[in-house]
Amino acid sequence: MRRAVDGSPASQPGPRRDPVPLPLTPVPGRGTAAATLLLNATYEPLCVVSSRRAIVLVLAQKAVSVDSSEDVVHAESVAVPVPVVVRLTRYVRVPYPAQVPLSRRAVFTRDGQTCVYCGSSATSIDHVVPRSRGGTHTWDNVVAACRRCNHTKADRSLAEMGWKLPHPPHTPSGAAWRLLGHRTVDPRWREWLGMPETVSA
Ligand SMILES: [Zn+2]
Repeated sequence: MRRAVDGSPASQPGPRRDPVPLPLTPVPGRGTAAATLLLNATYEPLCVVSSRRAIVLVLAQKAVSVDSSEDVVHAESVAVPVPVVVRLTRYVRVPYPAQVPLSRRAVFTRDGQTCVYCGSSATSIDHVVPRSRGGTHTWDNVVAACRRCNHTKADRSLAEMGWKLPHPPHTPSGAAWRLLGHRTVDPRWREWLGMPETVSA
């Protein structure tokens, strides 16, 4: 566990902490199963928590709602809009890994869920320089691709195919990318994550 800057352990937002038990009565048919983006006091994205957890933080005045949905839950005899994004009232220090882990989901998110070659929906990962030719499994050599392009390209290079990349594949950086290994990204989080809009297929 990390200590908060002000020394108060009570302001830790860590996702592994047990949620504070609190009676919540969700509106029927809607719920708190949704996820909420948790921002640091500096608006830096920290992690994704359950909306139930976010409501607990708001009610405890450890976080304030930045963006909320139209759904409402009743807790402690007050009606609370289900938060989409909350911000901690106190800054917490969080260590980040030096490099974003290379995962299929993270590559898809970086490339907007679309094939970099034809723009249709991505279903696979392609090594730009084929692995059989010494291509590495690294951020700068891996792109999202549709099965058709991947199959067509096979073990050939881009030059042999006469294909071009829209831009060189880059290594993602920044706190926002920590979130990618866990779940899909709510479009309403994007402005806080500093991520590009998803390119429509
Ligand atoms: Zn394609």
